[in-house]
Amino acid sequence: MAALDFETHGEVVRVRLSHWRSRLVGYDVSAYLHRGALVDTGFPAAARDVARLARDKGIGAAVLTHHHEDHSGGVGALAASGIGVAMAPATRDALVALTRVPLYRRITWGAPRPPGALPAAALPGGLTLIPTPGHCADHHAVWDAERGILFGGDLFLGVKVRIAHPEEDPRLLVRTLEAIAALEPAELFDAHRGRVPNARDALRAKAAWNAELIAKIDARIDEGWEDAAIRDELLGGESFSGWLSGGEYARISFVRAVRRTKR
Ligand SMILES: [Zn+2]
Repeated sequence: MAALDFETHGEVVRVRLSHWRSRLVGYDVSAYLHRGALVDTGFPAAARDVARLARDKGIGAAVLTHHHEDHSGGVGALAASGIGVAMAPATRDALVALTRVPLYRRITWGAPRPPGALPAAALPGGLTLIPTPGHCADHHAVWDAERGILFGGDLFLGVKVRIAHPEEDPRLLVRTLEAIAALEPAELFDAHRGRVPNARDALRAKAAWNAELIAKIDARIDEGWEDAAIRDELLGGESFSGWLSGGEYARISFVRAVRRTKR
């Protein structure tokens, strides 16, 4: 059983989802109700609760920001309830190709199941998907252009995020953040942080902070530094989640991602 907490922000309802194992490591994730749609679908251990909520609220369709299991965990249960889930083709491909996720993620969120047949679903009315790669290749923001409301998924997370998954591309993320800030969203809802005050400034601040950090890492790579030494010097050593995830969701992964994407 997952815990569901509700916050109302104008016409947007934040559904904050957690369960005891995710709270133990300090994580929760949010889905959003907006314009009769559900944005993101929570984690596998919350799937039945999310599907029940969607039925109770008369949700017509859902839409995914990306394939990670804390966003896509409800896809199968929603489909079984007759609620279609729209997503980018790249997200569909990633879900279908799903292999086992690392143990710490299975413990935190529950084990994702292969979604089986994913019936194609139309995007909910008034919403569009904007490619926002960086966090992962299939990442998209859900944009309500009429109201200037952006559902950022894992685009933002915070200004100074020093940890990364191995597949992240921090340089691409900087370009994405600048492009999304240029849209001048009036509101930004983040999948982990909730409503982000001063959305445009926050996106620009994150882009600037990351660009500066990447430049410092590049300089040390050019000087021949090892990854762990760069991490210790610039990121203050390894993080709790870095240890917990065996170096997967970690500060060392941020440094490696910068090195991997260096020209
Ligand atoms: Zn993610």
